[in-house]
Amino acid sequence: MASIVVLGAALGGLQTALLLAADGHQVTVLERDPHPAPSDPDAVWSHWHRPGIPQLRLTHLPLARWLQLAEAHLPALVAQMTEAGAVRMNVLAPEPGLRGGLLAADARFDTLAARRCLLEHAATRAAVAAGVRIERGIVCRGLRSPGGGRITGPPAPGRRAPHVTGVETSTGPLEADLVVDCTGRRSLLPSWLRDIGVPGPVEEVGRRGFTYCCRYFRSADGALPARTFPLLAEHGSLGLLRIRADHGTYSLGLISRSDDHELRRLLRHERAWSAAVRRFPGADAWLEGPAHHRRRPDHGRPHRPQADPVRRRRRTPLCHRAGGRRRRVGGHRADHRAWAGDEPAAQCAAA
Ligand SMILES: Cc1cc2nc3c(=O)[nH]c(=O)nc-3n(C[C@H](O)[C@H](O)[C@H](O)COP(=O)(O)OP(=O)(O)OC[C@H]3O[C@@H](n4cnc5c(N)ncnc54)[C@H](O)[C@@H]3O)c2cc1C
Repeated sequence: MASIVVLGAALGGLQTALLLAADGHQVTVLERDPHPAPSDPDAVWSHWHRPGIPQLRLTHLPLARWLQLAEAHLPALVAQMTEAGAVRMNVLAPEPGLRGGLLAADARFDTLAARRCLLEHAATRAAVAAGVRIERGIVCRGLRSPGGGRITGPPAPGRRAPHVTGVETSTGPLEADLVVDCTGRRSLLPSWLRDIGVPGPVEEVGRRGFTYCCRYFRSADGALPARTFPLLAEHGSLGLLRIRADHGTYSLGLISRSDDHELRRLLRHERAWSAAVRRFPGADAWLEGPAHHRRRPDHGRPHRPQADPVRRRRRTPLCHRAGGRRRRVGGHRADHRAWAGDEPAAQCAAA
C-alpha cells in the first residue's frame, strides 16, 4: 500500500483518488480552496465558494464514454451522483419531431447530467466514503526531492533523475510515495519540475475559439417544455446548447466566437442574452413560464428580483452570474405545464 498525494479536489482529482483508494492505497487530496460544499443541493449551487474553478456554474455534460468507464470502475461514484439528483440522459434521445427512435445499441450514448457543482459534491462524498482524506485550504507550492537541490548542467551518464518524495505546501512539507497532479489547466507542474531539475514536459496548447454564456433555469415540476429544439442548435455564428440537469434544472448556453468581442460583451447582459436565445426557433418556451408558476417551488414564496450582478461584478472578467432578474410574462403557456424561469444564474467564460 502506497501513500499517495493527489493535488486538486475537483472532478479529476477526486476520481483519481477514488481509483487509487479502490486499489488499496492511502490517499490524501490537497485542495487550495478552503470551503467544503454545503450539504443542501441548492446551497451547493448558490453558496459554495469555489474560486479555483471558474467554470463551476457553467453548463457541463460529461461525455458518454465517461459514464461507461465510471459504471465499470467507480459504481459507488455513479450511485452518489444519482442520489444527488443527476439524471440519466441519452445525447441521441429522440426529441418530438426531430429524430427517430433510439436503437438498443444507443444506450452507450447515455450520460449523467447535473449541475457541475453537484457532480463534484457527490464525488467528494464518494471519496470520503471510500476513505480518502481531503484537506482543504492547503496550497501545493512545489515538489520535494532528495537533496532538495536543483540539478544543473547537461544530463550525464549515470546521473539519476530526481525522485519526487512529496510536496511542499502552504502548511509545510508532506511526504508521499507518489504525487498526482490534478490541479487543472493552470497547473504549475512544469515549473515545479524545473525547480527540482527536471525539464518541463512538452505541452501543446490550443485555443478552442469559442465562448460560453450560460444561464440555469428551474422547472417547477421537473418536466421540460414541450416545444423543443436540438441539443445544439445553430443560428449564424451563434450556437445554443440546452442541457437538462438535476432537481428540475436545465441550462441554456449560448456559444459564440471568442474573437467576436462585441458580441461576447453584449451577451453578458441578461436582456441581450435572452433576445439572442429567442432568435432560435422553439427556444422561447425554455426562457419563460406561466405567471402563476412564478414562485420558487421549493420555498413557496414569490421570487424576489435581485439587482443585476452583471453590473455589480464588473471586475470578474471571465465569470459573471446574472441572478434572478425576471420579466413579467403575458400569458405565455408552454403546454399547460408548470414552467418557471426560476433560479436563473448565468455565467460567461472564455473557453
Ligand atoms: C467553459 C468550460 C466548459 C466545460 N465543459 C465541460 C463539459 O461539458 N464536460 C466535461 O466533462 N468537462 C467540461 N469542462 C472541463 C471540466 O470543467 C474540468 O475542468 C476538467 O474536467 C478538468 O478537471 P480537473 O479536476 O482536472 O481540474 P479543475 O476542474 O481545473 O480543478 C483543479 C483543482 O485544483 C485546485 N488547485 C489548483 N492549484 C492548486 C494548488 N497549487 N494546490 C492545491 N490545489 C490546487 C483548484 O482549486 C481546483 O479545485 C469544461 C471546462 C470549461 C472551462
